Amino acid sequence: NRIIMTEATKTDVDMETSLRPKRLTEYIGQEKVKEKMNIFIQAAKERNETLDHLLLYGPPGLGKTTLANIIANEMGVKIRITSGPAVEKPGDLAAILTGLNHGDVLFIDEIHRLNRNIEEILYPAMEDYVIDIIVGKGPGAKSIRLELPPFTLIGATTRAGLLTSPLRDRFGIINRLEIYNKEQLTQIILRSAQILDVPMDQGGAMEMAGRSRGTPRIANRLLKRVRDYAQIRSDGTIDKETAKMALDLLEVDEIGLDEVDRKMLTSIMVKFSGGPVGLDTLAATIDEEKTTIEDVYEPYLLQLGFLKRTPRGRVATRLAYQHMGIAMDSEAIS
Ligand code: ADP
Repeated sequence: NRIIMTEATKTDVDMETSLRPKRLTEYIGQEKVKEKMNIFIQAAKERNETLDHLLLYGPPGLGKTTLANIIANEMGVKIRITSGPAVEKPGDLAAILTGLNHGDVLFIDEIHRLNRNIEEILYPAMEDYVIDIIVGKGPGAKSIRLELPPFTLIGATTRAGLLTSPLRDRFGIINRLEIYNKEQLTQIILRSAQILDVPMDQGGAMEMAGRSRGTPRIANRLLKRVRDYAQIRSDGTIDKETAKMALDLLEVDEIGLDEVDRKMLTSIMVKFSGGPVGLDTLAATIDEEKTTIEDVYEPYLLQLGFLKRTPRGRVATRLAYQHMGIAMDSEAIS
């Protein structure tokens, strides 16, 4: 139950729904993506067409689901939401597709986790708005072609490289979401505090922003915990001091690293003399899944400049040594 986890937990879901921006103008940051989408949406609306299929990729919690909802809202259409692991049989996907109305958005989260035989149904659906389904069994089986209404598929994935190329090639628009900077996170936190009616000053928001790992989901989660702390230990207002004390108590350090990050960095520095260390070895050493390391810890540590990826593995940088207060073994420096 790490507070800096990027995957949504059950308790996040209610709060996230109320905090989700509904319009493109309310969506903070991601300026390039917003500008492009604004143009594509206006153009499609003016031509009375559906929007091109769109792939969104980037680490969890950066706003892919939020953006998909905003796009449907801006297009004035309904959104149907599912995920790769939730679609178990080809029939499940066929049912979803045939249930869409003209222009609707179908959002498939974790689209890289669709089974290959299910994914293949999407190819003609995306290209020609048709699906072929097999009716009956054995020699009497027949293939029937069903027409679908024009729709927009929005796929989300943590890394574009996880998609098969036939699927990736069928997206007209591919957008990468970036990790947010401190100013943007400060704005997100102030906006959330206002919606939740939590008194907060700029200093309090900035303190939390610096510890949110560039991720709005974490920022909102920290806000929830700091709100509790402020209510019980002070007068309810979140200022810099209150935010700092609450987050120190939660063991999220001033740049957002928690125990697992520190364990990972220390093990690269101490056990592997700074690296390079391969992903498999690292995963085994700190007892974490490889994909969790790649999707959750690394993006932020790379962005901080604490880790470097080299062909031979991960290397801890001087900045990481400085932050951890560990002396650098000169032989291990690359
Ligand atoms: P993802 O689908 O990438 O895992 P979500 O879209 O579920 O992430 O975003 C997590 C939460 O973070 C949302 O509930 C929303 O409140 C907040 N959020 C994400 N992006 C933004 C943004 N650009 N501006 C404001 N809030 C955001």
